Amino acid sequence: MNEFHKSRKKIILVSCTILYVGLMIATALFDSMGDTVMVSLWGSRLPLSSFNGVLNAGMAMLSIVMVCTDYRRGLRRSLFLMGCSILFMLRSIIVMKKLGALPGIANSLIMILALGILYRQLAQRETDIVTDFLTGLKNRRGLVRMLDKKINDKSPFYLFYVDLDDFKFVNDNYGHKSGDQLLCMIAQRMMQFCKKGAVISRLGGDEFVLLIPEQEDIGGVAQQIIDCIGEKIVIPGSEQNVECYVTASVGIVKYPTDSKEAGVLLKYADIAMYQAKKNGKNKYLQFNKDMEREIQRHAELETLMKESLNKNRFSLVYQPQYNLNDCSLRGFEALLRLKTEDGVMVSPGEMIPVAEETDLILKLDEYVLEHAMREFRQAVDMGKKQVLSINISAKSICRYGFATLLRQLLEKTGFPPEYLEIEITEYCIVQSLENARENIRELKALGIGILLDDFGTGFASLSYLTRLSVDILKVDKSFVEGIEADKKSGDFVNAMISIGHLQGCKVIAEGVENQMQVEMLRIYGCDYIQGFFWGKPMPFAEAAALPMVHE
Ligand code: C2E
Ligand code: CA
Ligand code: CA
Repeated sequence: MNEFHKSRKKIILVSCTILYVGLMIATALFDSMGDTVMVSLWGSRLPLSSFNGVLNAGMAMLSIVMVCTDYRRGLRRSLFLMGCSILFMLRSIIVMKKLGALPGIANSLIMILALGILYRQLAQRETDIVTDFLTGLKNRRGLVRMLDKKINDKSPFYLFYVDLDDFKFVNDNYGHKSGDQLLCMIAQRMMQFCKKGAVISRLGGDEFVLLIPEQEDIGGVAQQIIDCIGEKIVIPGSEQNVECYVTASVGIVKYPTDSKEAGVLLKYADIAMYQAKKNGKNKYLQFNKDMEREIQRHAELETLMKESLNKNRFSLVYQPQYNLNDCSLRGFEALLRLKTEDGVMVSPGEMIPVAEETDLILKLDEYVLEHAMREFRQAVDMGKKQVLSINISAKSICRYGFATLLRQLLEKTGFPPEYLEIEITEYCIVQSLENARENIRELKALGIGILLDDFGTGFASLSYLTRLSVDILKVDKSFVEGIEADKKSGDFVNAMISIGHLQGCKVIAEGVENQMQVEMLRIYGCDYIQGFFWGKPMPFAEAAALPMVHE
């Protein structure tokens, strides 16, 4: 509540109290004057005490106003003032032997009852406003109020921002009702952390926030939260129970070290949680300023990429790939480039992961496909039999309808599909095998080659190679690096090449930077190479003019 509202409430309470006291004194005065003072009203002469009913009604009104303004303090004040006025009335009954005050006392007692009912209603409404209807925990508003209170007290505390990983999976597969039940169970489990001074809340969806007073082993608490959420969950069902496991990512901030504002603390905790998710989920991270800079950079890159797509500022370069047997040119890998208006080059290594977090990557993939095929169509028309290899993101290849889009682009650009190859990574296959498989099946039917990029860096099992009928394996440059210096690295690459051949694939090594590496890869029986040593990425005009054999 802001300061303006607080002082307005105070003014109303004080004014009502003064008025109430005034009315109370007036009632007592009227009573003591008895019938000595008479007032003429509409032709009748009435004693002053007969106006006490009106004054009592005024006092009742003021009590209602006070309780409605601030139900806790207002009720306390009203009860006190009413108690005083009852005492005054009792005095006139006992001391002055006037029974005329009896109805006033009865009225006051009924009024106290009415105020009690009003208080309960208001208190219930207040609780509802700060309570999450599903789990019964505090909601965002309740949390922010508590945060403001704790910040006012200036007592240090930690905030844990807990977000379930892949909760969407539960909703999608078991239905929203089961999802709700799961959230309630998680809320129950989180209650064990609700010890002295702690507050637990659900911000909405699958996001919980735990506030705990400063203590030593903060990492231990975070791990306990993760562990307790990670235990098996049994959701009772009408036909059969659903057993599942969920994990959570946790971001931690500290008051007052990280910020002294409730909103900023929540934002920072959210950022830390997001980083924990990015670093593989099911873990916790404590906020630091670098995280905020990274988020800002992300936002900048996102805007830059959107603008650059609209203003057609992206371009493509092509890196040659050679046949190791006869040094002939096999084809090119298309690589995305972006030069900002002030001439700064933005590395794809930085922008692609950002684009992959949003649907922007779908547009970028489409852009690269269309532009690369349009440019390379000219080389094909000149009779050059070269493969054009294009990187396709996990999101695109796992997307329903990607094969249809590619078919349309082939028609639009007139590019022959047999010269096209797409580079996919293990990561995407693990993510959504079925969709990827369907798209790949359709692409293969069109005659498009499938290359598995960054081979060895992911977690896919070898069986994927056959299940997805991959044509060519690309040994990642991180493995090629150092094969000439370290026997173990050499043996490893040799083994990868053998595995590729055993699976019936061709093998290409990327990141080849010196003659020694070329020689070793040749000995290992590698089919193709790509790297700075034989050719850096270059603009289309240069690529088209490259001799068909490496000299
Ligand atoms: P990648 O697919 O593994 O691409 C190979 C990267 O290694 C390219 O970096 C290339 O320039 C670099 N490289 C090639 N030979 C050598 C070498 O001998 N030494 C060294 N040190 N590096 C070499 P680039 O162009 O910066 O691309 C980085 C990553 O960005 C790519 O890795 C790919 O994952 C992504 N990317 C680039 N272009 C596209 C694109 O058009 N679409 C999508 N979806 N991703 C792209
Ligand atoms: Ca690639
Ligand atoms: Ca690679």
